[in-house]
Amino acid sequence: MAADIPRVGLGTDVHAFEPDRPLWLAGLLWPDEVGLAGHSDADVAAHALCDALLSAAGLGDLGAVFGTDDPRWVRASGVSLLSHSADLVRAAGFVVGSASVQIIGNRPRIGTRRQEAQDVLGAAIGAPVSVSGTTTDGLGLTGRGEGIAAIAVASLVYVPRS
Ligand code: MG
Repeated sequence: MAADIPRVGLGTDVHAFEPDRPLWLAGLLWPDEVGLAGHSDADVAAHALCDALLSAAGLGDLGAVFGTDDPRWVRASGVSLLSHSADLVRAAGFVVGSASVQIIGNRPRIGTRRQEAQDVLGAAIGAPVSVSGTTTDGLGLTGRGEGIAAIAVASLVYVPRS
């Protein structure tokens, strides 16, 4: 594998809204918002970032690395999965350059807590993370208010230890 050539990875995630659950999104708890369904905290932004990191390193995906039947990861927070994903990537010889995640949905308004989210997610992976939000003009599952989606990319550089 060539050193110094950046490698990119892509990740996506979607979870449906589930009333009476807390909303964890982009590493933050959002009071007074409807939560998302899932075995875990259902943080779509953190999960998409995990997949982007693992994909960039050629390490597979979230489902392969954090199997739902593995007791170590039952109810693990998205941020803890993200931190562990970054550790795996580094253990495979990569330096994490940066990552970006776009959250797609009607609510909540990401811009109100963007810096907070970037700080939490950036600390988890040890590199800058950009967080943005968008809507889909009322179209699709997010536009109908059925859930929240996220798309993430990550950039790594392979640095072999000689
Ligand atoms: Mg997920």
